[in-house]
Amino acid sequence: MSEIIVVQVVLDKPLSQSFDYIWSTEELGQSPKVGHIVEVPFGRAIDVGIVIGVSNHSQYSIDKLKNVKGVAPLPPFDSSLLRLMNFASQYYIHALGETIVPTIPQMWRKSADWEKIPKKLQAAANKKAKEINVEAIEGYISVEQLNAEQAAGLKALVDLSSDRNFSAILLQGQTGSGKTAVFLNWLATVLKEEAAQVLLLVPEINLTPQLERRVRAYFPDKTLAVLHSGVSEKQRGVAWYEAMTGKAQIILGTRLAALTPIPNLRAIVVDEENDPSYKQQEGTRYSARDLAVWRAHDQKIPVVLSSATPSLETWLAAKTARYEYIRLDQRAQGAQLPKVHLINTRDPQNQFSPGDKNSPQKKSLISKTLANAITQNLQERKQTLILINRRGYSPVLSCGACTWLSACTQCSSHTVMHKAGALGKKAVLSCHHCGLVNPIPSFCPECGNADLKMLGQGTQKLEDVIEEMWPDANVLRVDTDSSRKSKGAEVLFREIHDGNVDIVVGTQMIAKGHDYQNIGLVAVLDADSRLYSPDFRAAERLFAQLVQVAGRAGRAGGAGDSGGNIYIETQYPEAAVYQYLLRHDIDGFLAHTAREREEALLPPYSYQSLIHAEGKTLDKALQFLGGLKGRLKNQGLLSKALRVYDPVPKAVMRVAGSERAQLVIESESRKLLQEVLEIIDRDLRGDSQGRISKTSRIRWLIERDPIAI
Ligand code: ADP
Ligand code: ZN
Ligand code: ZN
Repeated sequence: MSEIIVVQVVLDKPLSQSFDYIWSTEELGQSPKVGHIVEVPFGRAIDVGIVIGVSNHSQYSIDKLKNVKGVAPLPPFDSSLLRLMNFASQYYIHALGETIVPTIPQMWRKSADWEKIPKKLQAAANKKAKEINVEAIEGYISVEQLNAEQAAGLKALVDLSSDRNFSAILLQGQTGSGKTAVFLNWLATVLKEEAAQVLLLVPEINLTPQLERRVRAYFPDKTLAVLHSGVSEKQRGVAWYEAMTGKAQIILGTRLAALTPIPNLRAIVVDEENDPSYKQQEGTRYSARDLAVWRAHDQKIPVVLSSATPSLETWLAAKTARYEYIRLDQRAQGAQLPKVHLINTRDPQNQFSPGDKNSPQKKSLISKTLANAITQNLQERKQTLILINRRGYSPVLSCGACTWLSACTQCSSHTVMHKAGALGKKAVLSCHHCGLVNPIPSFCPECGNADLKMLGQGTQKLEDVIEEMWPDANVLRVDTDSSRKSKGAEVLFREIHDGNVDIVVGTQMIAKGHDYQNIGLVAVLDADSRLYSPDFRAAERLFAQLVQVAGRAGRAGGAGDSGGNIYIETQYPEAAVYQYLLRHDIDGFLAHTAREREEALLPPYSYQSLIHAEGKTLDKALQFLGGLKGRLKNQGLLSKALRVYDPVPKAVMRVAGSERAQLVIESESRKLLQEVLEIIDRDLRGDSQGRISKTSRIRWLIERDPIAI
């Protein structure tokens, strides 16, 4: 009789253990390897899991074990990927199976599809051959074209990566300083090795088409795998396959791409490394940037973190020489940096626009100063970008007679009015937290009054106002609603690039990374709303966003170009964020923020973790967390070195019918924090099914390094 083979398999379940199955080499046609993706029966269902161990025995009786049903037609995950997954699972306190399985594209998670896959791959290859459009290739800057600063940066990168060792490198440069040109030329040197693969991470789906064109221009002969949530499941399945089998040399994608199996990985670039989108906000709440650095360290390869406004964490690491530091301080095309104008909206002079001459008390979003500047910019035939970080028409509907405000029945948030044609044929009220959409009432639901007023402005209203003020201008609105309608933001960005638009009204979405060439003026209307927030990172984030949007102005320039203008309407022009921006003093702002954090012992001077709790009532959620804190105290775990705060309701307390609370845990020691989180995980699991408490029905989750408190 042949020997019994037992494999240990992890599944996408919030359970820390693996499950034993029998492996029949005869039936499966191959011997088992750690890293194989397999199909197994679990309960009454069939599930996909990963083999993490192979042995000849089980602690269970062999005849009770079920058989592995099938093996995916893929090479097994290599040991480096499994190390990465193990690390992510431990560090983010998430079971191994539920960390790995969700990173596998759907195509490879359904065994029913496995047979059809060869055909799909062939179809994709044929289509790809057709798709590469030479005209769409743009933005190639050769090594010879690099300016002196860029050339020095490139040389430093090449030197650092010559000896197959880990190095983390901060590439810090003003917007438009040519960082992309530097790291793409560097990747070209890495890719001279035939089999080498590189990983290029970008924060936003919306930025990938533009970068994709540039990457294609640099590497016409290499295969590019594009991975983000915007590509179809099928395309993603193919791209992932090409990455894991070494067929694709360049893996370009958003945070989810950080966990792609890449057997010959030689270099990683994280573009706009400070961007909050790198943090996954559900499931395993990883930071793709941090995992990229870990992966580079583990694989002894270089990782470049590129940004105009580095995160405080990365900047301090570079300052203290833990990371290498390369800087580009000039704008590549010779333009100057945009001039920053702060418009004090407390000043009565600024509170009405020329359009409101008859009712100067009526506050308008467009101040007189700004309106004049826009008119002049239009006359100079330059484009204008106006930002307001709120989509919809009006953030809330109110009753003129009583205190009623339109609110979501499911969430503790107001519902936003969207004008007719925006979300449906008719105007609607929509909740931006849970997505609930309701018709607009004709009367106040509380008192019956018919005089309902719209308070505040969103992109749609601003679009109307702008069209009224500049009737001859072509106005384009760019937000998630309009991009859904146009079947993708790329269409809208093209309009801007092609110069068919005079004024763009949009959310933060238009601000990032785009290399527009003819923007003369950028205006930010509601910056203050993001300045004062209970989150200690609010100012850092706002500063980065403002530098980014300012960077969209006056890029093409040419020596002597004014570099464009940015106007910021604010009631607090004296705030540090604005003052440092006025001087383009990024390092000054970061140093200032570092001092504040150090005094308050906040990250990066300490490490944080959140325990989330969600249930039917806030009281229950708070009690649940209070109980946990009490147990930690009884075990003598609370100390100066490990601070456990009191449970509090979340900023948006009610979402989709659940009430939410959180507990902050903080320590200067990563190790101590890790130990305590593991204790907490065991403690909570003691009374839970998955992550739902059996006694209180509270759903809980542990999060490492939260970026929003
Ligand atoms: P960043 O990544 O720092 O924002 P990019 O690499 O996108 O900068 O460069 C900004 C713009 O300058 C792009 O249009 C790019 O094509 C151009 N550019 C970059 N380097 C040079 C150079 N050496 N000479 C001329 N133009 C350049
Ligand atoms: Zn009323
Ligand atoms: Zn809601």
